Amino acid sequence: MTQNGSLEADVVVLGLGSAGEVVAGICAGAGLRVVAVESGLVGGQCPYHACIPSKSLDLVLATGSSPIVPPLPGLDGNPFWTSDQALSAVELPRRLVILGGGPVGCELAQAFARFGSEVTLVESGPELLPSEPDVIGQVLAAVLRDDGVRVCLAARAERVDGAGVGAGITVRLDDGTAATADRVLVATGRRPNTYGIGVERLGIDAEKGLTPDAYGRVGDGVWAIGDVTAAAPFTHMATYAARAVAQTLLGRPHRLDLSAAPRAVYTDPTVLCVGITPRQAREQRIPLLQAGFDLDGTARAYVEGIARGRVEIYAGEDGRVLGAAAVAPRADDLMGQAVLAVRAGVDVRLWAEVIQPFPGLSEAFGEPVRELAGRVGRSGVSSRGVGWR
Ligand SMILES: Cc1cc2nc3c(=O)[nH]c(=O)nc-3n(C[C@H](O)[C@H](O)[C@H](O)COP(=O)(O)OP(=O)(O)OC[C@H]3O[C@@H](n4cnc5c(N)ncnc54)[C@H](O)[C@@H]3O)c2cc1C
Repeated sequence: MTQNGSLEADVVVLGLGSAGEVVAGICAGAGLRVVAVESGLVGGQCPYHACIPSKSLDLVLATGSSPIVPPLPGLDGNPFWTSDQALSAVELPRRLVILGGGPVGCELAQAFARFGSEVTLVESGPELLPSEPDVIGQVLAAVLRDDGVRVCLAARAERVDGAGVGAGITVRLDDGTAATADRVLVATGRRPNTYGIGVERLGIDAEKGLTPDAYGRVGDGVWAIGDVTAAAPFTHMATYAARAVAQTLLGRPHRLDLSAAPRAVYTDPTVLCVGITPRQAREQRIPLLQAGFDLDGTARAYVEGIARGRVEIYAGEDGRVLGAAAVAPRADDLMGQAVLAVRAGVDVRLWAEVIQPFPGLSEAFGEPVRELAGRVGRSGVSSRGVGWR
């Protein structure tokens, strides 16, 4: 503490969520003087509103993100939730309209449908999970319909009419249909918390958002980690970036590599995607070989009565695994080998030699990787070593 009452520190961390906690802990453990400032609850959104319920005078920005509420006529005058309120609600709406078919909208649609609400899920894109491969959204839509969710695709909410709780709220869609609810849940995305933290004084434009370099640096002596950067908004990504930045702050520069960031959606079955998607490959003009397999072709699915699920593998013409996607029970665990394959740039011809245990769900990888391996072999584009020495 200085004479004027201010604190002296080597590292100041704004925000003590998943990212802030890790970076502050590592730096303090290594002997740096750390001041951590948290405006709400220590631990951030992950333990309270998200996952757990569905430096040398550097300044680490770890202020997370907040829900975006769209400027929808009539929404303000009617009771609506964001995920924060939905996950701490004590009432169960009889009818719930969810705007947004991304990860949060899909997870909460299934949860509330299983609690007993009549759920309508509205997504403006042609499929659920618009950033993921189409087939994954298609399987998930079928799963949610099995749960009783009314899934409205390619439909955008254009107006909300109603007289409040009990009287019913009508959400009018631009395809001419409507959905009536007791509560509207807005899950139309989140925006990084870049405002009100003074980044402008450091020459950073809060409006443009934070674009960290390969080490997480956004300016001289300023670092940004977690959801505030808008890159892969997941707890595991926040803690990964926090560990890397802490190492850099301790004098051991650590490059971030987000190429194999696992993107999870905790519905039942779970969605796990990693690396490139066919849409990104088209946009970036990357020739992509792709093959997939429906889980019901595995012995395990037969034994366990798994009706829906799929894995998809994406490889470059040279055979390198560039991406993968799955909707499957415990896909987060099942896809460990796919995440490793993308991260390590494994050749699909080597993956085809991996022996998958019987009767495990990972048998689903067998056919698609063998098919891709065959296509790479035939294309003769590359004969890069596939041995394992
Ligand atoms: C419904 C939902 C479900 C999710 N489920 C999963 C999941 O299953 N798996 C997963 O990996 N991810 C999940 N996520 C994402 C995950 O919660 C976030 O990626 C993670 O919390 C990001 O951590 P963070 O530290 O960057 O931000 P946060 O956890 O948001 O922490 C930021 C902290 O900064 C504080 N803060 C903000 N402004 C200031 C300021 N000016 N000064 C000081 N403090 C400030 C906030 O109060 C907050 O505590 C989910 C998100 C949602 C919304």
